[in-house]
Amino acid sequence: MSAAVPTAPVARASAERIDELKESLAEIRQRIQAARPSQGATSQPTLVAVSKYKPASDILACYDEGQLDFGENYVQELVEKAAQLPQDIRWHFIGTFQSNKAKILASIPNLYALQTLHSAKGATALNKVLSADRPALNVFLQVNTSGEESKSGVHPLVRDAPESEVDSAELVQIAKHILTECPHLRLQGLMTIGSLSESLSKEKENEDFRRLVATREVLEATLARAGFPKDSGKWGDESGRLLLSMGMSSDFEAALAAGSDIVRVGTGIFGSRPKKEEVKA
Ligand SMILES: *Cc1c(COP(=O)(O)O)cnc(C)c1O
Repeated sequence: MSAAVPTAPVARASAERIDELKESLAEIRQRIQAARPSQGATSQPTLVAVSKYKPASDILACYDEGQLDFGENYVQELVEKAAQLPQDIRWHFIGTFQSNKAKILASIPNLYALQTLHSAKGATALNKVLSADRPALNVFLQVNTSGEESKSGVHPLVRDAPESEVDSAELVQIAKHILTECPHLRLQGLMTIGSLSESLSKEKENEDFRRLVATREVLEATLARAGFPKDSGKWGDESGRLLLSMGMSSDFEAALAAGSDIVRVGTGIFGSRPKKEEVKA
């Protein structure tokens, strides 16, 4: 089980499908520009096109439109697609991460980020299998902002909690573990999925997004207090900021308004997907 050598070239999508994808991608890009806050926005938000269950030909059509960031949920599917598709694609793993999949994920040379890390054990497993001659792998800690049992992720941090409480929080422990014990990982930010009901109620501010924003603020301050200041180059993007990955097809505009840096859009670009059960059947 290692990344396969590039196989036959990927078939092209039909002219009709290419037009369809071009159009939906252009529309999502436009909506992102319209939704990003004009004040305080440091950089362009990143659009990760979530291509799970979609053929490599769809990905190639988007790539031809300049789309470089793609997200996948299933390890085997990602390995196969990565082997067939251009090497300058930046793959984001956004599926449930299990430590026993660390090795195969690390074998993908252009894996750009793992967005679903939620344990120190997982960090250790990944760090161990990543080779020293590649750039550190970007990792995002997944935060369960909605508290739903069905979602993985660690508890969010809250503003104004006592320092002792914050210091012992699982999220802080994992972050420090990455910074001190995992030189092949770079803690780039935080990721959340959030609850569907929050995403559907467009009348009010999305509480899950608000919680992730607060978590970043508290974590950045806590890391600085622990001896890893913003300019230590240990975490965050080039400007020393933890990035927020939040927002999907149904709620990416609200997420951008709340301060998201990375949105993950699947259906909005590629159309609806078969359900997981249907694919496995
Ligand atoms: C599938 C998936 C997405 C994309 O969802 P859409 O609603 O199709 O945009 C985003 N993030 C994660 C973690 C996913 O699993």
